[in-house]
Amino acid sequence: AVPRHVTVRVAPLTSTLVLALVEDRTKERRVETVRRDFVANVSHELKTPVGAIKLLAEAVCDAADDPVAVRRFAGRMLTESDRLSRLVQQIIELSRLQDDDPLDAPVVVSVDEVVAGAVDASAIDANARGIKIVTNGTHDLKVFGNEEQVSAAVANLVANAVAYSGDDSTVLVSTKPSSGSDEGMVEISVVDQGIGIPSGELDRIFERFYRVDPARHRSTGGTGLGLSIVKHVAATHGGEIRVWSVEGQGSTFTLTLPRANQEVLT
Ligand code: ADP
Repeated sequence: AVPRHVTVRVAPLTSTLVLALVEDRTKERRVETVRRDFVANVSHELKTPVGAIKLLAEAVCDAADDPVAVRRFAGRMLTESDRLSRLVQQIIELSRLQDDDPLDAPVVVSVDEVVAGAVDASAIDANARGIKIVTNGTHDLKVFGNEEQVSAAVANLVANAVAYSGDDSTVLVSTKPSSGSDEGMVEISVVDQGIGIPSGELDRIFERFYRVDPARHRSTGGTGLGLSIVKHVAATHGGEIRVWSVEGQGSTFTLTLPRANQEVLT
C-alpha cells in the first residue's frame, strides 16, 4: 500500500513541476521576444527623427542664400529634435520603470500635489491653444507608491488630453476615493472633449509605440510611449487604467491607485 500511495502522490507532483518549468520557459521566451521587439521598435523610432534632421540639415546647407527657407528648415529641425529628445526621455523612463519595483520602498504620495504638477506641466501647451485645464478641487487624498512614477503617469494623461483636444476646449482632472468593489483605491480621471478614439483601437493604445493615426498625430509630436508608461505604473502599483471614448466627442481615462490608509498617515 505504501508504494502505491507514493506513486499516486509523486505523479501529480512531477507533472505539476514539469508544467511549471514549461510555463517558465514560455514566459522567459515571451519576455525575450518582447525585449527584442522593443529594441527593434526603438531603433526604428529613433531612425525617423534622426533621418529627418539630417535631411533638413542638408536642405539648410543647400539653401544657405535663402534666409526664409533656412528659417523654415531650421524650425522643422527644432520640432524634430524636440520629438527626438522626448522619445529618448520616455525610453529611459520606460526602462527605469522596468527595473524599479515601486512597492519596494513605497511612500505616501499626495494626489493633490501630483495633479497640480501635471496641470502645471501642460499649462504652456494648453494656454497656447486656449484650452482650460480645470480640477474638481483638492481632497487631501493620498496614495501609496512611487511618487515619480505616479507623477509621470498622471502628467502623461493630462498631456494627452491637451494634445488630442481642439482649441478652446476644457480638460477636467478629477479625483475621488473609489467606491464599491474598488474600495480602498483612489480614482484619478482625466476627461477631454477632444478627437476621441475609435472603439476598435481602445485596447491597442496601451501598446508601446502604438498610435491611432501617426500621420494625423504627427503635429502633436507624440511618441506612442505615454500610455504604456501609464499602464505599467498602474500594474506595478496594483491599480488599473480604464478608458471610455466616443470618437469625435472626447475621452475619459481613469487611473486607480491604492489609497494610503489612515494608519500609515498617523
Ligand atoms: P502619444 O505619444 O502618441 O500620445 P500615447 O501612448 O500616450 O502616445 O498614446 C497612444 C495613442 O493613443 C495616441 O497616439 C493617440 O492616438 C491615442 N490617444 C491617447 N490619449 C488620447 C486622448 N486623450 N484622446 C484621443 N486619443 C488619445
